Amino acid sequence: MHILSLAMPTPLRRSFDYLPPQSLSDEQINALQPGMRIMAPFGHRQLVGILLVVKDDSDVAADKLKAATEVLDVAAILPPTLLDLCRWAASYYQHPIGDALANAVPVMLRKGRALLSNTETRWRLTTEGKGLPEGALKRAAKQAQLLALLQQQASVGSTDLSATGISKATVKALFDKQLLESFEAKPNDNQPQAILKAASLTLNGEQQHALQQIKSRPGFNCSLLQGVTGSGKTEVYLQLIAHYLQQDLQALVLIPEIGLSPQTLSRFQQRFNCKIVVIHSGLTDRERLLAWQAASNGEAGIVIGTRSAVFTPLAKLGLIIIDEEHDSSFKQQEGFRYSARDVAIKRAASENCPIVLGTATPSLETLQNALQGRYQLLPLNQRATGAAAPTFELVDIRHAPMDEGLAPATVTAIGREIARGNQVLVFINRRGFAPMLMCHDCGYVAQCSQCDARLTVHFGQRLLRCHHCDSQSRLPNQCPNCHSQQLDFRGAGTERSEQALQRLFPRTRIHRIDRDTTSRKHAMQKITDEIHQGEPCILVGTQMLAKGHHFADVTLVVVLDADAGLFSADFRGPEKMGQLLTQVAGRAGREEKPGTVMIQTHQPEHPLLNQLITQGYSHFARQLLAERQQQNLPPFSYLALVRAEANNLQQPEAFLQQLRGHIEQLNGVTLFGPLPAPMTRKAGRYRVQLLVQAQQRNALHHSLQQLCQLGDQLPTGKQLRWALDVDPVDAF
Ligand code: ADP
Ligand code: ZN
Ligand code: ZN
Repeated sequence: MHILSLAMPTPLRRSFDYLPPQSLSDEQINALQPGMRIMAPFGHRQLVGILLVVKDDSDVAADKLKAATEVLDVAAILPPTLLDLCRWAASYYQHPIGDALANAVPVMLRKGRALLSNTETRWRLTTEGKGLPEGALKRAAKQAQLLALLQQQASVGSTDLSATGISKATVKALFDKQLLESFEAKPNDNQPQAILKAASLTLNGEQQHALQQIKSRPGFNCSLLQGVTGSGKTEVYLQLIAHYLQQDLQALVLIPEIGLSPQTLSRFQQRFNCKIVVIHSGLTDRERLLAWQAASNGEAGIVIGTRSAVFTPLAKLGLIIIDEEHDSSFKQQEGFRYSARDVAIKRAASENCPIVLGTATPSLETLQNALQGRYQLLPLNQRATGAAAPTFELVDIRHAPMDEGLAPATVTAIGREIARGNQVLVFINRRGFAPMLMCHDCGYVAQCSQCDARLTVHFGQRLLRCHHCDSQSRLPNQCPNCHSQQLDFRGAGTERSEQALQRLFPRTRIHRIDRDTTSRKHAMQKITDEIHQGEPCILVGTQMLAKGHHFADVTLVVVLDADAGLFSADFRGPEKMGQLLTQVAGRAGREEKPGTVMIQTHQPEHPLLNQLITQGYSHFARQLLAERQQQNLPPFSYLALVRAEANNLQQPEAFLQQLRGHIEQLNGVTLFGPLPAPMTRKAGRYRVQLLVQAQQRNALHHSLQQLCQLGDQLPTGKQLRWALDVDPVDAF
């Protein structure tokens, strides 16, 4: 008896058994491989499942088993390594296997479409065409041009045609005259095969050492390349990749957000001849499938992608790089809540290849692993261009007469740098005009009707917007409560700072960089291109500015408000603040001109802040680690959050209370809650959470398994939405 165990795209935490399609011969059944797509009936629908295993018995009674409908593939579309990885991740994050696998399979394949052909149509001369003399077809200039081209090279494809401006109509004309014939070929069959397009830089001692250390260890190992901003980590990645390309292996590079770092991508493209594919959320379904196939069949030497690319199959995986490993975008915050960094490490281990985590500001988890010797720590302490590290200055704004969030000392310093022809970067981690609208006469504050949050004023758009549920309404002219016109905009966001700076420096160009100004395609590229022209200007922006940019002429970085991070409710608040300040500061003085970082604060004596700026991130992070150890917080213990939400507070509370009651007696776990989430109501839903803490991973996972089984059975669980977040990165 043959039973097919399929992962189906459903939210159920299990696989499903089917009989083979009736039309299949024994021979065809024996040829089935895990990783093939199989269409099968599910309720009243037909769904595309993935074959996990062919077994010889089932828990389901034989007469209850349905037959699958159709096998869609002649060979597995997912290799065993990737099936195993998805299975591991599904069990680690307690997530349905069908949904976990959906992350590994492009949507067109999930809909049952066939793989795209990876050949293209090319044209070559027929015998008759070859017989034409040079300079024939003179009366039709374009046709003559195409003929001349084909007298120089054996065949042309669509790229040759668009490069030379020859149209399809011209091709058709020659084809109709039987001078041309078409054939199918791989697009890059006749490309040059040198690996490097441009020469590598000569590495400095630290870079050289790091490269050698990574290259000299074959097989799985994890390195933390901790390089200060501008220390040339990317150059190390590039030379490491070249090493693996030479062995005909592929590299997988994960980065936080593609749109924010167009420079990174172009550096890869300028260096290598090989095919490079980019996988991110902005692709069309077809583009995504093409990229996925090129990775999967080994055609692409380099695969660069955001979080979800970690599940891309690579035929010849040789190396994984995670750039900016500390970045929270590597953790998916909804649905399948995996950490792409942690999945990547697991993947490197099971595919036995090296993995490099690169960052100036390692997460405390990664740092702790390095300090304990589980990862090899490779520091790059010097800036590669020889630039000096920026100097820090705390600006005490207690008592200072502030002008829209700017202290006099700050304004003076900005003016000085602009007068010297330099660029200034002003960082404020809040978009919009003002985070609060208040009535001066009655004290009314504009709140979101759906969230426990204030509405943000977007002055240019004349809107009040909620940054948590994206609802918006018109900016009122008068108080909705008392009709007074004395409306006060409290606090400042990027839009207000931009306006204030423009007033203070009327002749200077101000560029605002935040989600609102960069949402259109290529908008970021356009702004950064302008900045690279080197004219004196002021950049005002959110944390988007902190990410990976290399602005040669920025000599001063101003942080308008450093205090929020010091008093965050989240235990990761100080860690995130330290990372952000260090990354923003890293934009200053990257080339010959030395840089200064001015940090405005009401807490100039705060020990953590002082440690960060006098001793640097590494010391600061070690101090935080000591505190985490004392408080028994990660990485010294393991956490999971059970989140439940409904349109009232009682249901989720009661559900979590029930769960708590059942798992309370399990060994090795401590439970906190149920407690309302820090922002309890969001988009009209009340959110409550139960925190599970354990000293041992095993104990945590054992309890989570029980908890999920129970949660799936409890009738109260069916009336609300609940989910598990293993290794949560934020408490909201
Ligand atoms: P990081 O990724 O660590 O922030 P980058 O790789 O962007 O640093 O390097 C910063 C700058 O230094 C880039 O302009 C890069 O071209 C340059 N650079 C890197 N390595 C070297 C080197 N060995 N010699 C000269 N310049 C280098
Ligand atoms: Zn009022
Ligand atoms: Zn809202």
